[in-house]
Amino acid sequence: MLTKEGIIIKSNKYQETSKLVHVLTSDGLKTYLVRGANNFKSKNYAYSLELTKIQFESNRKNTFDIITLGKVEDNYTNIKTNTKSLYDTIEIFELVYSLSDHVIDTKILYSFLSNILDSINNHYHEYYLTIFKLKLLYLLGVGPDFKGGCAKCQKSELYAYDLEIGKAFCKECFSMTQNSIYADEFEVFRFLYLMKFEHLTNEVLDPLPKYQTHLDEFLDRYYDYYLGYKSKSKRIINKM
Ligand SMILES: [Zn+2]
Repeated sequence: MLTKEGIIIKSNKYQETSKLVHVLTSDGLKTYLVRGANNFKSKNYAYSLELTKIQFESNRKNTFDIITLGKVEDNYTNIKTNTKSLYDTIEIFELVYSLSDHVIDTKILYSFLSNILDSINNHYHEYYLTIFKLKLLYLLGVGPDFKGGCAKCQKSELYAYDLEIGKAFCKECFSMTQNSIYADEFEVFRFLYLMKFEHLTNEVLDPLPKYQTHLDEFLDRYYDYYLGYKSKSKRIINKM
């Protein structure tokens, strides 16, 4: 019985033969040394690859936590063989790698990442990346605020969200800015944020209007504004 479980989100060569793997676990992001993992004939090779769920044991030696035993739980084969789902996952991993230190509830982060990867792997939907980015905002403590009705007149029918003000507005009080979304896009934005992930099945997502690109751009501005975060992988993928 192996006692630890995690998802490898980044892996670097270390010295001639080993690798350093960055693993998200229910205790947060951890770095481990995997000896001999740079050689694909080594038994350690399989549990040093990015986008793999592993169970493992580790030992602390000098300054390193070393993986001593491992077993592959999931290779996420469908994600790896589909360009769209792979790109979305690369963006998700980059977010986790850059921002997971700011997440207090590491247990929820781990189970959320595990669930979203299962969904992308088993029944890919373009909205999963949007959903991940939206719900991660909540875990980072900067989620959108929909409480208390319109920020100006308190009317309960909301129409728009302004990310710089960090509030929602009704149709009368809303004034369009570069950093706002409104009307149907706002509805989808709020719906995806508030709805529990387990209810966001393909049956629920398929009929939604296809606002992925717009919502994604809005969320990119949101991450930049509140967290100073800009995706590097997205810039690379857009160039390709
Ligand atoms: Zn109002």
